[in-house]
Amino acid sequence: MSRYMSARFEKLEAYVPGEQPQDMQYVKLNTNESPYPPAPGVLAAVNAGEIGRLNLYPDPEGRALREKLAERYGVEADNVFLANGSDELLSFAFMAFCDGERPVAFPNISYGFYPVYANLYQVPYTEIPLKEGFILDPADYCGLHRNIVIANPNAPTGRAVPVQGIEEIVRTNPDHVVLVDEAYINFGGESCLPLIQKYGNLLVCQTFSKFRSLAGGRLGFAVADQGLIADLEKIKYSTNSYNINRLTAAAALATLDSDSYYADNSRKIQENRAYTRLELNKLGFETIPSLANFIFIRCPQVEGGALYRALKARGVLVRHWDRAEISDWLRVTIGTREQMDIFLDRIREILKEAG
Ligand SMILES: *Cc1c(COP(=O)(O)O)cnc(C)c1O
Repeated sequence: MSRYMSARFEKLEAYVPGEQPQDMQYVKLNTNESPYPPAPGVLAAVNAGEIGRLNLYPDPEGRALREKLAERYGVEADNVFLANGSDELLSFAFMAFCDGERPVAFPNISYGFYPVYANLYQVPYTEIPLKEGFILDPADYCGLHRNIVIANPNAPTGRAVPVQGIEEIVRTNPDHVVLVDEAYINFGGESCLPLIQKYGNLLVCQTFSKFRSLAGGRLGFAVADQGLIADLEKIKYSTNSYNINRLTAAAALATLDSDSYYADNSRKIQENRAYTRLELNKLGFETIPSLANFIFIRCPQVEGGALYRALKARGVLVRHWDRAEISDWLRVTIGTREQMDIFLDRIREILKEAG
């Protein structure tokens, strides 16, 4: 921190994104990207002319895309908010809805950005412990009198709460916003999005980064009651009115015309997830049942950090956190069958060496 930076950021610890190494080709299973490229129609749409219009600002309202998403989810365009990745969406939501009088709660083991945004906006926060086996008990969140943020399925565990549990939380906290981060909803989970018709305090966030193979495009969106969306718009127009660039908007629109391509990819990922889990279980690993495009695993013989490093040395990148509660665990993105076979081979080599 230079002597010029505001003192209010003195204790702020920035989020540390997963490694994006530029030096060599890894089997990259560390940031939950899709192993599949965008659908052919997406490339065609972006190349068709949007590049030639980059001299012009994009539509600040993002009308075309909001209308298409609204149609998809059976809501109005005014129920849809677009952001530069769901990370930006989370940032806007924390800014809009949380403060000293409106503190926030989230699980103690969840997406690492939640406490970072709470600290950035100086919002008091409570971390609610997951139960044994990383299980989230909705009862812990009922009538909490705080804003609530829940990733469902949760990251990095992959466990999901049934919609009924989410509804209980939303119903029993009518005076607070319940943000459900559904970044991984398209890998076998059930979305709580239809509940927005019934509850004005539910904010459902999704992203094009994982299921829709568009992590590099940066697009997240929220669906909620028009009141919450208008609040987010106010923050957006006070921060960056043109937050969705032209190329991303064109790519995202085209993405929504290739449903079967993405559904196929998701089916393959779910098959590879079951396969990988089974193989790891055969090797004696502890694995958490996952409804996401990753699995959370623990090796009984090799400590988490050591296993992460041994895999990296063999060209396979996974995610590990230096946090006591989960330092023995690794989060492994589910890639293609070929990638998972390389990962499993390297695991077998490492176990053999460890004796
Ligand atoms: C990946 C992820 C995000 C961020 O997604 P972007 O749209 O790429 O910013 C948000 N929440 C969770 C739980 C995630 O895993």
